[in-house]
Amino acid sequence: MHALLQRQLRRYLDGVDLTAAPWPAFLEAVDQSYLEAEIDRNLVETAMEISSHELLQANAELRGLVQAFPDLILHVDGDGRITSCRGRATRAFAVPTGGLVGQALRDFFRAGEQAAFDRAMVAAREPGAVVTVEHTSDDRRPAVHEMRLAAIGEGTVVAIVRDVTDTRRSEDLRLAKEGAEAASRAKSAFLANMSHELRTPLNAILGYSEMLAEEAPADMREDLQRIHGSGRHLLQVINAMLDIARIEAGMVRVEIDAVEVRAFAAEAVAAVRTAATQKGLTLDVTIGAGVHVIQTDRVKLLQVLRNLLANAVKFTERGHVTLGVEAAEADGRPGVVFAVRDSGIGIPGEMLARLFQDFAQVDESTTRRFGGTGLGLALCRRLCGLLGGRVAVESTFGAGSTFTVWVPLAGVADADAEAATRLVHTGDAA
Ligand code: ADP
Repeated sequence: MHALLQRQLRRYLDGVDLTAAPWPAFLEAVDQSYLEAEIDRNLVETAMEISSHELLQANAELRGLVQAFPDLILHVDGDGRITSCRGRATRAFAVPTGGLVGQALRDFFRAGEQAAFDRAMVAAREPGAVVTVEHTSDDRRPAVHEMRLAAIGEGTVVAIVRDVTDTRRSEDLRLAKEGAEAASRAKSAFLANMSHELRTPLNAILGYSEMLAEEAPADMREDLQRIHGSGRHLLQVINAMLDIARIEAGMVRVEIDAVEVRAFAAEAVAAVRTAATQKGLTLDVTIGAGVHVIQTDRVKLLQVLRNLLANAVKFTERGHVTLGVEAAEADGRPGVVFAVRDSGIGIPGEMLARLFQDFAQVDESTTRRFGGTGLGLALCRRLCGLLGGRVAVESTFGAGSTFTVWVPLAGVADADAEAATRLVHTGDAA
């Protein structure tokens, strides 16, 4: 053992007997120390191997994380210069990532945002602090970034830059939409209240003008009748507006009942029978086989049909008005279609699309000739929507129109008030 040590000892201690005491014990002790040192060295090597393996693994994991990170990660030194950059470049930080190194991060901020950035950098250097600062790019359509700053030792700050433009935009849109909806509800509620306030004095005007017209001398009667006529027209407008506003404000509930179709159709037609007879029009009802009972809101459906029948009679000078009722499916749902046909003046093609909009009338001369508010069909559309149904119109200008209302066999409560409409122009009569 330790041949080299023994040789050296013999060379320097001339004639020494290494087998005599104390040399064997000395050599034994040296041996033992070497052995222990060897064991320690092996242990240290193993430990180093293990930790460097773990280090490599942790490193790989970190690299993977950084790669998967949706953000740009910048290191900024004590002078505010970018010293490294990883992750995804964004529109505003689009310089090829290596190219950002050496630049002052502050210079990427617009003049108006630099003071906020400075304050954020100071705050971020506090131990344990994470500070967020907003960055807006200089483009025509500015990108918005959220930059999180945190100190990571020795004056270095890490800046994590995330592009939040889309999130902000959709958030802005959501807020705008909520605002618009709230405004629309407020408008409808206001209208509903106002219309009520208007109706009360109007009823007094109507009552007094009618009473006075009966008793007034002949030269005043015509004026009083005009006042009365205008008052009635205004009342019609206000009533229709009140109905529309109440629907839009979500104040109208749908009451579903079993409705016997034959009796119901007769009741709808009865409301216009006198007017039709006075004009010499034939007024018929046809009910298809298999149509018996439907589940719907009777009052609302009646209001729709009376409106369509009143229009049909109003806009027809000769011929007929008919109400036909048939079983019909729509989108695979069983239902019933009510068709109001007339042989009247018809509707020009370009007008059809506007027909169900508020205050839409074909033209001023029609209004002068026939009166009306232009709100009836707009109200019909909303009422049909509430019933889960739809309205449609087909018309030939100069020859007549057919307005149809489809409602489901089994009523739907709380359907969308914006009923689908279908418009068909079948040409102009020669
Ligand atoms: P109005 O109170 O003016 O009748 P509506 O909304 O009920 O309001 O109708 C809007 C317009 O649609 C009418 O002014 C008229 O020009 C046209 N219209 C409605 N029904 C018919 C019909 N059956 N024939 C011809 N035109 C019609």
